[in-house]
Order: sequence, then C-alpha cells, then structure tokens
Amino acid sequence: MNAQPHDTAAIESLLAFWRDAGVDACFEDAPQDRTIVIAPALKAVAKATESVMPVVDMGDATADARRMAGAADTMEALAEAAAAFKGCELVGMGARGCVFGRGDPHAPILVIGEAPGAEEDAAGQPFMGQAGKLFDRMLAAAGLTDRVFITNTVFWRPPGNRTPTPQEQAVCAPFVERALFLMKPRAVLLLGAAAARSVLRTEDGIMKVRGRWQDWRLTEGDVSAPVIATFHPAFLLKQPQAKRAAWADMLALAARLDEPV
Ligand code: URA
Repeated sequence: MNAQPHDTAAIESLLAFWRDAGVDACFEDAPQDRTIVIAPALKAVAKATESVMPVVDMGDATADARRMAGAADTMEALAEAAAAFKGCELVGMGARGCVFGRGDPHAPILVIGEAPGAEEDAAGQPFMGQAGKLFDRMLAAAGLTDRVFITNTVFWRPPGNRTPTPQEQAVCAPFVERALFLMKPRAVLLLGAAAARSVLRTEDGIMKVRGRWQDWRLTEGDVSAPVIATFHPAFLLKQPQAKRAAWADMLALAARLDEPV
C-alpha cells in the first residue's frame, strides 16, 4: 500500500478505534447494514454466498470430525487431522489458522480451555496472552509446568473472542475426546464455564461445578479420567479474590498425580 505518512497515522487511528469498539475481523470488502436485512434478502444472501460459505450440516460435520479424529493414532496425527478439518463454522470466520495444543502430548494432565483468542491465533498455540501467562505461573507454582498438554474446546478463534457456541464445541468434541483416548491422562483440568459445559455436558455454572472431581467417561473405547473444573485464568485476572479457590483446585490436581494408580 502506498499510503502517505499522514494517511498511515489516520489509518492506524481508525484501526485502533475499530479495535476498541470490538471490530477485530473483516469478512467482506463492503460493509452491510444488517439491521435492515429482511427475510427475502437473507435468502438471497445465503444463495449468493453458497459457494464461498457453505452451510455446515452439523450431523455430517460431526460424523466427519469423528472419522478424522478416530483415524489419528498419535497426538501429532490428531493435530494434523484437526488442522485439516473444515466442518467447524469458526473456520470461515476470520481465524488465521487452527490452534490445537501445546505442551507434552504424553503428559499426565490434559488441560482444556475455552477457545483461542487473538494472541493464540497469531502464535498458533493456546494460552499465549495475559491469561496464559497467569496460567503458566500457576502451573509453575504447583510444580506442573512439564506435566500438561493444553488444548481448547474449539481450535479456531471465535470472532471478537466471543464464547464458542455449544454447536461449535460439539463439532470439535470428537478431537478433544480423541485426545483423552490417546493420552489416557491421570487427570483432566477444565478451565472455565465453557469448557465445563462442553465436557461435563452441564448447564450448571462454574461456581457450582468447580473444585469437585467427576468422572469423564467416553461413550466408546472404555476410557475415562478424573476431571476437575476451575476458574478460567481470564476470570482470575478480573476477579483476583477467586484466586484462592483456583489455587486450591491446582493443589488438588497436583495431589491427584501423587495418588497410586
Ligand atoms: N483462553 C482460552 O480459553 N484458551 C486459550 O487458548 C486462550 C485464552
């Protein structure tokens, strides 16, 4: 782009304004006033965009996810299968790429967060931002740094860092479940309400479910693991008084590894 210096400053200022207003992804060249879109127009838009934004059939997509995840025999192959999967609607919503996981794929603890954010999308790895830094410090303090593999309920950044929908989580769930199957971890840690909702299939809030061990059992394969939910580190950044309870959950997790199998 051949912007003049003063234009660059104006563009940067405009971008900063948009970012502060929550606009962080661009889908089309021209803006659309979606407040005046009426039903027939919606149909026309759907027809016109059919070829570029295919409507994802949840049933087919979940079956594809199950087939692709089930064919992966290692965590590395699972990461590749997730990256090749196009059945999650988040794939076409502005994320740069698939963010599958980080850490030791043979670790005794599987950690599941909510969804990648902007930093994770840029780096291609989960929990890289402020919340991730806090979580890394909590892991280090609990002596668990090298004992975790960290993933999320969905592998593409939702636009505007919104919470992933139950449908988006459900379509990615076969990959998360396959991670449990391949790792057979000693324990699973769920970070925040959205992860708890997806894995424990509960509508209960995080205040109710955190700090209680439950059994996460896959419907196939006779695989299960003890699972505990705690507060999301992003929540702890806003509500530091909740750190005491989260720390108790981390200690319970560390203690679980010391128990005889
Ligand atoms: N929050 C999450 O839940 N996951 C990430 O990867 C980053 C932030």
